[in-house]
Amino acid sequence: MSPKPIRKVLIANRGEIAVRITQTLQEMGITAVAVYSEADRHALHVQCADEAYPLPGKTPTESYLRGDLLLAIAQAHGVDAVHPGYGFLSENAAFAQQCEAAGLTFIGPKASVIQSMGDKIIAKDTMEKAGVPVVPGWHGAADTDIATLKAEAAKIGYPILVKAAAGGGGKGMRLVAEESELQAALEGAAREAQKAFGDARVFLEKYISRPRHIEFQIFGDTHGNTVHLFERECSIQRRHQKIVEEAPSLALDESLRQRMGEAAVRAAQAIGYTNAGTVEFILDDLTRSFYFLEVNTRLQVEHPVTELTTHHDLVRVQLQVASGEPLPFTQADLTQDGHAFECRIYAEDPAQNFLPATGTLYQYRPPTGPGIRVDSGVAPGGEVSVHYDPMLAKLIVWGKTRQDALEKMQWALKHYVVLGVKNNIAFLHALFEHPKFQAGQIHTHFLQEHPLSVETEVSPEVLMLAGWAATQGREAQGGSGNNGSGHPLISKGPWQTAGSWRAF
Ligand code: ADP
Ligand code: ADP
Ligand code: MG
Repeated sequence: MSPKPIRKVLIANRGEIAVRITQTLQEMGITAVAVYSEADRHALHVQCADEAYPLPGKTPTESYLRGDLLLAIAQAHGVDAVHPGYGFLSENAAFAQQCEAAGLTFIGPKASVIQSMGDKIIAKDTMEKAGVPVVPGWHGAADTDIATLKAEAAKIGYPILVKAAAGGGGKGMRLVAEESELQAALEGAAREAQKAFGDARVFLEKYISRPRHIEFQIFGDTHGNTVHLFERECSIQRRHQKIVEEAPSLALDESLRQRMGEAAVRAAQAIGYTNAGTVEFILDDLTRSFYFLEVNTRLQVEHPVTELTTHHDLVRVQLQVASGEPLPFTQADLTQDGHAFECRIYAEDPAQNFLPATGTLYQYRPPTGPGIRVDSGVAPGGEVSVHYDPMLAKLIVWGKTRQDALEKMQWALKHYVVLGVKNNIAFLHALFEHPKFQAGQIHTHFLQEHPLSVETEVSPEVLMLAGWAATQGREAQGGSGNNGSGHPLISKGPWQTAGSWRAF
């Protein structure tokens, strides 16, 4: 059965990923159809699309998670395929199934693969059988008594991680240092998992101390070809969520890279994987052992670092594979060139424990230049609301060497103008100035162990724009622009010393 040609695609998402997918679709001559909630009527992804249709309400449950409405829009407007982006319905097997049942191509793997990899217990079992190393651990019946659980935990050895079978986005995880904490952790993780995923099942895993997070981009087509596009290191995390990613990883030499890449391809082949996916591993830097964590059955947030180092547009390849074409490359064709970093630019307040921030972007001017890519979900004047993920954009840079890329990222962060909404740009700048980060001595606890003091010089253009916006912005917002700092749009951060200013 060969799938029908794809001429029109509905993007079941919002923000930067919807904008980014739209661009590739348009380059390929494919019509890009956007959907938008009431809160997103004026959003950038709507402006960029060829057609756009409304969804009711403002919350994700009322809008972007309404598979039935998305399918009705697709069918009413002659759509051939649905791109789910990441988050929302991207890893919802029922939605993938419903798309196919409605005669729409779902741009992703088969629904059965999404289903099985969405369950971390099934995924680990499958991978273990396929000869992929997994983190030592235990899983069993939900009604297992605490005495048995304690015995199993003792066998694994503390510290232990309690994880949710349905987990994602760092939720439903509890670290257990010793036996006395086990019961409370099991109950807490199960409660959180029930609330977040409607599935309370948890399992035990050996806690690898200070590991590195290394993941491999995989791609399969419907002709039996499977490749990997090398690794991304995502060790800079807060609450198990990635903030900065890079490729290649300094932790891998050629032989380890090859072994991990082969394991990733073996993992993909074991489940008949098609389209783009990611096999996540943690790497114990001391023993050089790596362990399978999970498969993410979608395009990953951090896919641009792979695009910049392999020179392939992953969304274009997704469309080719979904159209039934073979992969446009073999493993032997693929190489890594230079070095790329990605920073996730969040609307959040580093001074208040990274509380998500909201407001109007009076000024928004991302840096440009050779080797700089910004995937933005917002435009000047845009509103950042409470309803969605607070990620504004991704800043991605490429350099011939890691050092070149480091220098470019520092420049780009310094020249990134965001006024009106608190953000983590100065925090990221401080990270890129940290000698240990610069030396690549990173692990998943880096930010916990190295608190950053955020003091950033503001570039002349930021100051100039802030001054300009101070006069313009006050009129535009009816005089409500004073944030209490004595200056309407530029405020002195609470952590800063005199003479060091941070622009919001
Ligand atoms: P990735 O694995 O692509 O780097 P993350 O690990 O940051 O992405 O997040 C895992 C997935 O969970 C992503 O698809 C992300 O969009 C999704 N996600 C995280 N937080 C939320 C949330 N609050 N609501 C909906 N989806 C979320
Ligand atoms: P999610 O689905 O929420 O992304 P993962 O299993 O991929 O969950 O784990 C997310 C992060 O949690 C990893 O990147 C790593 O930092 C940490 N982590 C997960 N399992 C372990 C483990 N066994 N030991 C140490 N850290 C872990
Ligand atoms: Mg993960």
